[in-house]
Amino acid sequence: MQMLKCPICNNPLKLDIAYSGCDWDTIKGQGSGYGWEVSLFCDNSKCGSLFTIGHIKNLCDFSELKPELKCVN
Ligand SMILES: [Zn+2]
Repeated sequence: MQMLKCPICNNPLKLDIAYSGCDWDTIKGQGSGYGWEVSLFCDNSKCGSLFTIGHIKNLCDFSELKPELKCVN
């Protein structure tokens, strides 16, 4: 299985979904309600890179892939 890796330190990336409320960072704009950030992050403490892919409105709108299909932990 292929896993996405950090382009800086080559550590496998992990998925993170966290509420920031910063819907103004999206093309949907301020007031759109897209406050949950979907990101890939590197948990190497010496690196800590974060790559935000986009935002969703509700945490329940996102479902991770089955374990055998996942490309991030
Ligand atoms: Zn890294």
